[in-house]
Amino acid sequence: MIKKEINIAFEDFESIEELNKADRELCLEAVKAMENSHSPYSKFKVGAAVKLASGKIVYGSNQENVAYPSGLCAERVALFTIGANYPNDEIISIAITAKTNEFEILKPVTPCGACLQVMAESEKKQLKEIEVLLYCINGSIWKAKGVNSFLPFMFFEERLGRA
Ligand SMILES: [Zn+2]
Repeated sequence: MIKKEINIAFEDFESIEELNKADRELCLEAVKAMENSHSPYSKFKVGAAVKLASGKIVYGSNQENVAYPSGLCAERVALFTIGANYPNDEIISIAITAKTNEFEILKPVTPCGACLQVMAESEKKQLKEIEVLLYCINGSIWKAKGVNSFLPFMFFEERLGRA
């Protein structure tokens, strides 16, 4: 038996002021994205803003449904929108944030496993890592280059991808 360890790397910023201008702006776009969240059940709004190489910003917000599993997370709403509408525009970065009136969010909200898997496939499709910014409003920001930092055991079977 061999014991193995995986180390992940990310940057932890104390506040949004510490970020460079482009990252700061994208975090604020994620806040804007939350405006269209449809979350009457969880009362937990999530916003995602994705910056494309063309400069275009694509927004996603969580869209819930009374038939609960029919809803979708903000990250996948944004990424599938890009896949359907701007498939050849490279994804540079994604900023994700959340808010709720139910309790105080004290640290950055991380994407769920399904969203990480979809983010990973977006990277594979464009053969380039996506910068991930997790923004806690009035708190810290976690920044990572590539989804691998959050999902080191992402599912990817090369043989299934053969055309
Ligand atoms: Zn998700």
